Amino acid sequence: CGIVGYVGPQRAQDVVVDGLRRLEYRGYDSAGVAIVHDGELVVAKRAGKLANLEKELADRPLPAAHTGIGHTRWATHGPPNDANAHPHTGGARRIALVHNGIIENFAELRGRIEADDHVFLSETDTEIAAHLVELQVQSGVDLPTAMQRVCQQLDGAFTLVAVDAEDPDRVVAARRNSPLVVGLGEGENFLGSDVAAFIEHTREALELGQDQIVTITRDDVTVTDFWGTPVEVERFHVDWDLSA
Ligand code: GLU
Repeated sequence: CGIVGYVGPQRAQDVVVDGLRRLEYRGYDSAGVAIVHDGELVVAKRAGKLANLEKELADRPLPAAHTGIGHTRWATHGPPNDANAHPHTGGARRIALVHNGIIENFAELRGRIEADDHVFLSETDTEIAAHLVELQVQSGVDLPTAMQRVCQQLDGAFTLVAVDAEDPDRVVAARRNSPLVVGLGEGENFLGSDVAAFIEHTREALELGQDQIVTITRDDVTVTDFWGTPVEVERFHVDWDLSA
């Protein structure tokens, strides 16, 4: 339902949770964040209001990190509980991923890798994407390439955002039939399901087109299609009145 991604000098957890709060108006049933710290993922997620996640983060603070993703879920596959909340991880906990929308062919894809002893921890249509992206990076390709290859296999509507524990300086996202915008900062960049996710930080933005993939680092934003061909995306300026 709501998605936030961040790379930059600020504390990722704070930027992500603030962004999720700005997206609360869309409605949701669960919330979660993942950060990359010292080559590892740290994930916190809770069913219910953002306040439940914030309490969890207050009780068990995440280490400071500069790369993070977050999600507010509106369940379509699997009831709203802690296990089904996003982010989801691959079996090796190298990839964390959040998703808006529905992956129509998840059961078929899941059946294929479950045969190879992959254990699934949730009932969502989303978790398969975390496993598939992780299998790709484990095979030696980088995160943007992994995302491209996985998106080529997916049917349905999705915005996906992923981080790789072994590649801590970037966040990669993809979209098909579901919105995704990039917030352009100075030495930091943002992702959101809508501009509310980052409006406190920047009003310079890019809107991804259909079947595109974006990679953000602190200083760079790169957009391609699902086959890796670079795409030009036009900037726009958000002139909302924040007090409204
Ligand atoms: N289909 C996914 C799920 O049920 C994502 C739902 C959403 O867009 O929040 O977990």
